Amino acid sequence: MRLCFASNNAHKLDEIRPLLPAGLVLLSLADINCHEELPETQDTLKGNALQKAAYVWQHYGVPCFADDTGLEVAALHGAPGVYSARYAGPQRRADDNVARLLKELRGAADRTARFRTVVALVGLTATEQLFEGVVPGRIAEAPKGVGGFGYDPIFVPDEGDGRTFAEMTLAEKNQISHRARAVAGLVRHLTSIN
Ligand code: IMP
Repeated sequence: MRLCFASNNAHKLDEIRPLLPAGLVLLSLADINCHEELPETQDTLKGNALQKAAYVWQHYGVPCFADDTGLEVAALHGAPGVYSARYAGPQRRADDNVARLLKELRGAADRTARFRTVVALVGLTATEQLFEGVVPGRIAEAPKGVGGFGYDPIFVPDEGDGRTFAEMTLAEKNQISHRARAVAGLVRHLTSIN
């Protein structure tokens, strides 16, 4: 089975690859000769994940899945959520996003947050499929660790040992992460239709 992952984020690809069944050929956007920016204009994670996967299926004819992820912070009423990538501006810089979030939370008593990922699968079966993964945690007072990407240096999962995602190995993050949980749903579905 050949399946494209509709993302230009190499970190996401690295995380997802070891979670997929051995018989599945995972194609990147470059592998299918897709070098354009995918549309991502919806205001929900589900809408964006579906939009990206459907775009690739419609324009390139390759069954495809896409993920969209948001960091939902309780004290900010769920922000930055679906706008996590552009939280500090259109240039989508992770350091700036982290700095803005720490600034917004300065002095906040409640630092609880969660990562939520929605994975959309389009083109394998007649109907599109959605899978969700959530990991609860809290926002650290300062960045720690050099692994991972995005908000990882300031996210401490409840199920961990106090380290941020950026202080964990990829395998440790994959044990509990939002993305791994959503992909587990995808893998159950792939197994059920095979
Ligand atoms: P998107 O799913 O690529 O749109 O990601 C939205 C924002 O969340 C971007 O700023 C990403 O860097 C960030 N992000 C997505 N997944 C993760 C993750 O697993 N850890 C930390 N940040 C993430």
